[in-house]
Amino acid sequence: MCSEFDIIHRFFKRNSTHPATILGIGDDAALIKPTDGMELAISTDTLVAERHFFSHVDPEDLGYKSLAVNLSDMAAMGATPRWATLSLTLPQSIAENDAWLTAFTHGFFNLAQTHQVELIGGDTTSGSLSICIQILGEIEHGKALRRSNAQAGDDIWVSGHLGDAALALANEQKRIILKSEEVQSCLPALNRPQARVKLGQKLINAAHSAIDVSDGLMADLGHILKQSNVAACINIDMVPCSNTLRTHLPQPLAQYCLLAGGDDYELCFTAPKARRTYLKQLSQELMIPLTIIGNISAGKGLRVKNTHGQHIMLESKGYDHFHA
Ligand code: ADP
Ligand code: MG
Repeated sequence: MCSEFDIIHRFFKRNSTHPATILGIGDDAALIKPTDGMELAISTDTLVAERHFFSHVDPEDLGYKSLAVNLSDMAAMGATPRWATLSLTLPQSIAENDAWLTAFTHGFFNLAQTHQVELIGGDTTSGSLSICIQILGEIEHGKALRRSNAQAGDDIWVSGHLGDAALALANEQKRIILKSEEVQSCLPALNRPQARVKLGQKLINAAHSAIDVSDGLMADLGHILKQSNVAACINIDMVPCSNTLRTHLPQPLAQYCLLAGGDDYELCFTAPKARRTYLKQLSQELMIPLTIIGNISAGKGLRVKNTHGQHIMLESKGYDHFHA
């Protein structure tokens, strides 16, 4: 039998190294010392088994993804992630499964190390598998990228390409049948999303607004439009996608994956036209594709067209837990 404390000590307690972490795991609360002049950016994301992931998922991927989706929120604010807490609810079968916990911690800590994020606390309870991470980052005073500052005339940009995660999920759910090489090419987008942390930091002085695409492009861009009180038009033919997704694009399901599928964790941001040169250079420097997909105008609502000017209508705009 293993106890909660065995699990914490064997799998999660590390020797904290960074001087800004005054007290890490082991007391009733952690103590941190934020850098002078910086604001703290704080965000939480929960992953629930059979809702956000299948319980048979590779635990190493799960450890990675649980942190990656939180890093993505920091990226969308332009913040530098620094600390995390991890609240785990584990069924007995996993609490007694060293191999599972070892793989989960590998996925989590390898990504944490890449971004120099320290695990400073959490909670461990028993129940149906769920993972809740809180992340704390730092951002220079007044510099955070908000959803509420898009301006008429801005270009709308997205990083990377969209839709592969949703396509991989549709395949797992047998809503589409992909060839095995197609599965190979889009599954990493679902299991190992890249949080665009560096890109977010570099956008601080270039973008007017930003959001990470977690619930689908239309829904997430919709949040920017609503909070900024502006309208937008995007061209579906400009929205970057993989060759795999493009092959399936004539099907409505693939269009849905591209425009409304969730789990992409790319950044969607708006920036004035004067920033095009900077952003093209940045794209080369970071080796991340950055693509203009439309523009912001005065008014309300989001229109989607194709290159021939025809309107595209979708039944659903994105994922919503209570209107699934
Ligand atoms: P308390 O009962 O005071 O809430 P706990 O016994 O839950 O404290 O936790 C003991 C210590 O271990 C705390 O510092 C807590 O933050 C940390 N902790 C618990 N679970 C985890 C976890 N899954 N990952 C990291 N730290 C954890
Ligand atoms: Mg506790």
